[in-house]
Amino acid sequence: MLRKTLLLALCMSAVPSFLPAAQNQKTHHYTVIKDVKIFDGKSEHLLKDKELLIEDNKIVKIASHIDTNASVKIIDGKGKTLIPGLIDAHTHLMILDDVDKAVYFDEPSYTGALAVEGAKRTLMRGFTTVRDAGGPVMGLKRAIDEGIVPGPRIFPSNAFISQTGGHGDFDLSMTYLSKHFTGIPDKATLYGWVYIADGVPEVQKAAREVLRSGASQIKVMGSGSVTGAHDPIEVAEYTYDELKAIVDEAKKWGTYVMIHAYSDEGVRTAIKAGVQSIEHGLMMKPETFKLMKEKGVWFSTQYALFSKNLDDFPQMKGTPAGAKFLEVKKYAKRAYELASKYKVKMSWGTDAFGSLQLQAAESEEFLARAKYFSAVEILRQATSYNAQMLALSGKRSPYRDGKLGVIAKGAYADLLIVDGDPTKDITLLAHPEKSLKLIMKDGIVYKNTLPN
Ligand SMILES: [Zn+2]
Repeated sequence: MLRKTLLLALCMSAVPSFLPAAQNQKTHHYTVIKDVKIFDGKSEHLLKDKELLIEDNKIVKIASHIDTNASVKIIDGKGKTLIPGLIDAHTHLMILDDVDKAVYFDEPSYTGALAVEGAKRTLMRGFTTVRDAGGPVMGLKRAIDEGIVPGPRIFPSNAFISQTGGHGDFDLSMTYLSKHFTGIPDKATLYGWVYIADGVPEVQKAAREVLRSGASQIKVMGSGSVTGAHDPIEVAEYTYDELKAIVDEAKKWGTYVMIHAYSDEGVRTAIKAGVQSIEHGLMMKPETFKLMKEKGVWFSTQYALFSKNLDDFPQMKGTPAGAKFLEVKKYAKRAYELASKYKVKMSWGTDAFGSLQLQAAESEEFLARAKYFSAVEILRQATSYNAQMLALSGKRSPYRDGKLGVIAKGAYADLLIVDGDPTKDITLLAHPEKSLKLIMKDGIVYKNTLPN
């Protein structure tokens, strides 16, 4: 009896008195965040005089006052700004070395170690969710979701699907004989980096393999690339029929296709085939932006990357990649202006990869976009808009219990407290180590430097 009373007392002590008795069965953890101004992911104006109740990993109440008791953890925001955790819609958490080294030469444990460190730093820059745009990321995702290592939620694409000689055909040698001639799959395929597939039956099979691996969306290489070993930048890769076959496989599983494409023709073919997210797209013509707007296709492009110069990428100087970078850069300003003009759906992603240092440029994307969008609009892109795009994964989304990218009842407790008002000054988010006073993901605090 004493034991029973003690147990009951213990259970009761974790539950605030304002909750109905029926809920007093299970031990929950409660946090209240008070004295913050709230950017909810959508609204232009900050919510004032509101407090937030978090139960375990979700926001359960937003009200002008929330009763607390001794068991409730209180976070006093000291009048600073609470915003949803940031989302980067284009990362490659597994590629923190040159692609060909990561794929062919580095020890897998080194690749994994870099990825663990990169994931932690990504979270500490305030990114609580990423859409990983290709690479064998499932193991890292698992370790993060299991709470073994810190990192963001990951929407994985896993292996790229690429045609022979396309952006995902990573083998540098010109005389390499593909599996079509040798019957031996490439190391890049064995380790889950890419499926080289040509023709409808092969791309169907590759799409099914990607879905089988647990991907939340399919990533296809659909045009020439800057860093690709073989493909000229201006070419379109994959035919309409091949892309349509991949899109159909994705649809059957209730999800969608995102495509790497710079060239206008590559993008047009992809949109006609039903691709929902265009990655890069900088060489698109005005008609294609119009088509993108009509079809409600997302534009997932990068501003920081192409505001840089070749000096920022010494490893590319004097290489074909360097020349291709400069070629694309010529189109960047036009593309950004057209995207604004046609008001296409904008996601927020960085494609910052290749080393831990290059990945750190992730936060610079906030600065680079400031020329084209208001601070509030950039914040919406990196929160609620990105979440809307991620929702295209439907039941293939790994995180379906709560809303992402917003501060609302029923949303995951993925939250940041910013010193200052990022709806007025977006540059704050370019310096997360200084400006972020609190980083919470899934209800767990990873950083808290608020004064006591
Ligand atoms: Zn990419």
